Amino acid sequence: MKILITGGAGFVGSHLADKLIAEGHEITVVDDFSTGRYSNVAHLEGRSDFRLIVDTVLNAKLMEELIRDSDRVFHMASAVGVRLIMEQPVQTIETIFRGTDIVLGFCSRYRKRVLIPSTSEVYGKGTSVPFREDDDIQKGSTSKHRWAYACAKELDEFLALAFWKETRLPVVVVRLFNTVGPRQTGQYGMVVPRFVKSAVNNEPITVYGDGEQSRCFGHVSDVVEGLTTLIETPKCFGRVINIGNPEEISIKGLAEKAIEMTGSSSEIEFIPYEEVYGAGFEDMKRRVPCIDRANELIGFKPTRTLDDIINDVAAEFQDSKSSTAESA
Ligand code: UDP
Repeated sequence: MKILITGGAGFVGSHLADKLIAEGHEITVVDDFSTGRYSNVAHLEGRSDFRLIVDTVLNAKLMEELIRDSDRVFHMASAVGVRLIMEQPVQTIETIFRGTDIVLGFCSRYRKRVLIPSTSEVYGKGTSVPFREDDDIQKGSTSKHRWAYACAKELDEFLALAFWKETRLPVVVVRLFNTVGPRQTGQYGMVVPRFVKSAVNNEPITVYGDGEQSRCFGHVSDVVEGLTTLIETPKCFGRVINIGNPEEISIKGLAEKAIEMTGSSSEIEFIPYEEVYGAGFEDMKRRVPCIDRANELIGFKPTRTLDDIINDVAAEFQDSKSSTAESA
């Protein structure tokens, strides 16, 4: 099949491209490198079944041509990371909502199967875990920029479901919980690459707040397995589906684990949220997925643990450390 991956040079998108190419598909990636990186797809360049187009999903003319020529569309392009969202709220809202509007419109016009990733951020401030897809949602005030990301993604969800309702567009909406693994950068605030990199370098690990907040981390290889199965399963169309790993850990516990597993001498430093993100920042206290729906629909079950994730991410940083040392 011909498969279009918007944001295909990003962390999740590039793993998706690898998997689909290995399965024998022809892949087109469109990415503007806003948060994606050429290095994530450099190994695919030159292959006859891979095409990279450096452009934005807001280029409607281009998107129309690409969608018309595709059999499947994975719309992975998005602003990502709490740091970016706090610093560039306009870009966050516009890339997310306008990009999805363009993609869904053309997928509807040309009747293409499309997957729209959403986020566990949409669950907002609720603490009654695990989070189920049909739960009511409570978010913060519009003066707190963090919630702009969740609200923009929620609007994407509404639009996707509206297209399904009105035109039977074959669309599946996936709420991704914290997805991690090799190629993820800590540059936009993501905790696992930041902690593991600091641990590998024996530098201080910075825990924001008291570290009692928790997250559940899913390995990117489990996640892309889920995504590729969902788009091929028609009973998933018009549904919102959680994908993640319910194994929960506090952020302080994560710091300790990263230190222990890498044999690091790093110290843990606690930093108040406002020093990092400014006054009035609101974090999510807990975020645990209920994955019953994904399990019932596609038999989804994560196979990689947090230990696997830390090992894989540490191996990547150790490799890049030794190649930097060799070239120095
Ligand atoms: N976090 C931290 N130190 C860091 C980066 C993140 O303590 O260097 C915390 C952050 O405050 C949050 C959790 O780790 O409570 C997960 O952060 P991330 O940005 O990875 O994802 P999200 O908040 O979107 O779940």
